[in-house]
Amino acid sequence: MLEFTDEQEAFRGVVREFAEAEIRPHAEAWDRDHVFPTDTVLAMGELGLFGLMFGEEWGGAGAGLTTQCLAIEEIGRVDQSIGITLEAGVSLGARPIAEYGTDEQKAEWLPDLVAGRRLAAFGLTEPGGGSDAGATATRARLDGDEWVIDGAKTFITNSGTDITSLITVTARTEEGISTIVVPAGTPGLVVEPPYRKLGWHASDTHGLVFEDCRVPVANLLGKPGRGFAQFLATLDDGRVAIAALSVGLIAGCLEECVRYAGERNAFGRPIGSYQAVAFKCADMAVALETARLATYHAAGLRDAGRPFKREAAIAKLFATEAAVTTTREATQIFGGYGFIDETPVARFYRDAKILEIGEGTSEIQRLVISRELGLGEPT
Ligand SMILES: Cc1cc2nc3c(=O)[nH]c(=O)nc-3n(C[C@H](O)[C@H](O)[C@H](O)COP(=O)(O)OP(=O)(O)OC[C@H]3O[C@@H](n4cnc5c(N)ncnc54)[C@H](O)[C@@H]3O)c2cc1C
Repeated sequence: MLEFTDEQEAFRGVVREFAEAEIRPHAEAWDRDHVFPTDTVLAMGELGLFGLMFGEEWGGAGAGLTTQCLAIEEIGRVDQSIGITLEAGVSLGARPIAEYGTDEQKAEWLPDLVAGRRLAAFGLTEPGGGSDAGATATRARLDGDEWVIDGAKTFITNSGTDITSLITVTARTEEGISTIVVPAGTPGLVVEPPYRKLGWHASDTHGLVFEDCRVPVANLLGKPGRGFAQFLATLDDGRVAIAALSVGLIAGCLEECVRYAGERNAFGRPIGSYQAVAFKCADMAVALETARLATYHAAGLRDAGRPFKREAAIAKLFATEAAVTTTREATQIFGGYGFIDETPVARFYRDAKILEIGEGTSEIQRLVISRELGLGEPT
């Protein structure tokens, strides 16, 4: 049985109220105009949404991944772009610093990230490939007391906002792949113009180029050569959070569809009275419940300090594929209006596809799950 504490339920209510008042009225315009709403992101910070997973010593709530997922679900129910801004800011941005940083690095970077005054990004994917992250081509070499980074990263979320403070970059060093913190504005770091994306129009995504980009030797995160293990663990958390974002998307679609199916008439009756439409909504309810169970099961294991890699992959795979199916069927229920951008389900349809790709594609999730079964290709 999936049960949240009274405190978590009350918190969900607070986030829902915020999303309804501060995000829903603007979501369509931000999507249409490709606006990254800095003030709203800062307001989410003031509400504490970026600090849920982190220790109180850094200004966080120490509340765990489950509570973080509740916040991501509620924001994602209304606006996926803002949901991914939160998800990436926490899972990909602040988490590596909190997990692997030295006390000095944490003191320097975490208070602003945890408070949501600044955002951090995680640069893993390269033009040559994202799934095969072991093939990282970006290089970092030591020159005196500096790392010199050369290479490129693609599709990096939150990397070019006005409040971006740093990008954690994976790079090949003598010891293997290492992670290095590159502060925003470092000479030699080129932030390319934003992409023209199919969805997530209000989220910030850029390619990055590193040309003789120099940062202090102290900016290495954790031990040299540990970058591969670090990003695998980072992605385990991130996959549960992306599943939560997908749960929000399914919930948002279901609400829109039940309302519309009751209001819209065809052949003298509400379309919801036709089984073909009602069954689509029933399938969405099944998807929602199942995706939610898988997501919070994985988050609960994580919070209990138990292994959750397999469960994270299962939750991500199931919830994201269910989200894509749900948005396609929601668009169908809305008929022609479902193809018009200002209808929320049209935006949801465009926003859904990337969920099956980012933080490990569906194929990579199947690979992780089959390896856990002792099957699949050798590594
Ligand atoms: C909007 C957006 C935001 C993103 N944000 C970030 C970010 O913040 N940080 C970051 O580092 N990355 C980010 N990404 C990158 C994302 O994580 C990658 O796109 C994703 O991991 C896939 O990598 P790829 O695009 O290089 O595809 P590829 O790895 O080239 O894969 C292409 C196809 O081949 C399949 N494939 C690859 N290997 C296998 C295999 N072994 N078995 C079966 N099939 C396989 C894949 O599943 C996919 O279908 C973002 C992407 C987008 C579009």
